[in-house]
Amino acid sequence: PAGIGLVIVTKTVLPEKILEAYGAGERDFGENRVQEWQDKKETLPTDIRWHLIGHLQTNKVRFVIGQVALIHSLDRLELADAIEKQANSKGIPEVPCLVQVNMSGEESKFGLDPEKVVDFVKQMPARQSISLRGLMAIGPLTEDEGKIRECFRKTRELREGLKKEFPQYGWDILSMGMSADYRIAIEEGSNMLRIGSLVFPRDGAK
Ligand SMILES: *Cc1c(COP(=O)(O)O)cnc(C)c1O
Repeated sequence: PAGIGLVIVTKTVLPEKILEAYGAGERDFGENRVQEWQDKKETLPTDIRWHLIGHLQTNKVRFVIGQVALIHSLDRLELADAIEKQANSKGIPEVPCLVQVNMSGEESKFGLDPEKVVDFVKQMPARQSISLRGLMAIGPLTEDEGKIRECFRKTRELREGLKKEFPQYGWDILSMGMSADYRIAIEEGSNMLRIGSLVFPRDGAK
């Protein structure tokens, strides 16, 4: 549907394959490992909008800010501080970020506990470079559609509350939905999908 952005996730995908998607008009691509992304981006067009969607280590922040369109995985103060420090030293006024929320509560997932998000956001204005654009969530790994839907619905509701409480930020992006659950994510208000394997199958066909 119109108004829903698509980030093509290209982890483990070779640059020549990424170029095919680029040739088809795609400009937003997502990577989750900084090292892999850096190696690949050297050979790819400079008008690609890169999205950092994976866990971001503080010692990698300097490679990322000013180089990616959006960081989807802001999930802790230590990372916010590292972004602020690097932004200041590089003279980058604004670093667009999504707060990653661990809405499904799965231990293997990164992201802030939902009940900690408000306190976290309260501390962001002191980090002036950080521009909060919305939330990112990963749906639970389950066949249970109800659970997936609930995760996305709660994320949307959390964003609605944040919009009211912190109107100085955009909150315009809700990054949720992957190959297996993007339809539910759209129904629950997502406006940015992160799709990998549907575009680049991981069965060796890449
Ligand atoms: C790999 C990945 C995706 C894409 O997942 P698919 O199931 O391949 O569509 C989306 N978001 C994140 C954070 C990922 O790591």
